[in-house]
Amino acid sequence: MKKNPKIIVGNWKMNPQTLDEAKRIARGVKKTAEEVKKVITIMCPPTVFTSAVASLSNNRYLYTGVQNIFTETHGAYTGEISADMARNAGARFVIVGHSERRRMGETDAVVNKKILLALTSGLNPIICIGEENHDRDGHYLSVIKEQVHAALQNVALVDIPRIVIAYEPIWAVGADKAMNAHDVHVMTILIRKTIIDLYKLRKQPKQIHIPVLYGGSVDPTNTAGILTEGSADGLLVGRQSLDPKAFSDILRIANAA
Ligand code: PEP
Repeated sequence: MKKNPKIIVGNWKMNPQTLDEAKRIARGVKKTAEEVKKVITIMCPPTVFTSAVASLSNNRYLYTGVQNIFTETHGAYTGEISADMARNAGARFVIVGHSERRRMGETDAVVNKKILLALTSGLNPIICIGEENHDRDGHYLSVIKEQVHAALQNVALVDIPRIVIAYEPIWAVGADKAMNAHDVHVMTILIRKTIIDLYKLRKQPKQIHIPVLYGGSVDPTNTAGILTEGSADGLLVGRQSLDPKAFSDILRIANAA
């Protein structure tokens, strides 16, 4: 496998409605994911389908993730799922701080707690950050920096290679149009530089690469531009990840990018 493979995450959100359909999507993705050797694919189904999807994946090209975990390890928290449970069900990754969850009240402090728990349990966090508005005054630049700092509070340098950042401008998630590739490029540079400065990575003896993905209305037509001109290390794909044909096209384009 190439040194820094592209990482393509499929966030199925609260879909599909049946186990049979979840297996159908996973099998459709599996075929292409195992062909494209320069890409790591991560399917994130609803938690109830984790084991079934994981039984079809978890090899060096294809993994399963969950879309959320709880802030505690066990106990009287009706309806919640711990990091250990997710890991035990076969998840290797967890999406943390998705804008749809932040909208339901998840704060930066909660996001940070979940990241620390994920790391302790052997899950690799995919940390979502993104601004509400891409305002003309550039306020979004400090919003992004603050989100990175808050998410990584107390995360040890040794765990940094396990972190994936997904930059998802909120206004582009579930929208008609993705951010343009030039603006993606500016934001990926900002995020990498923020982490390099935070951990003084330039002074570290070993080079550490932090993948910065882009998410927000990705489809086969904008994939190549976001990965090449946009210099994103991968993509977080929502709606199009439920269509194995479209998602497979994205995987093949990413493999060639
Ligand atoms: C997402 O779910 O994070 C997302 C980016 O969705 P979509 O690709 O549908 O915009």
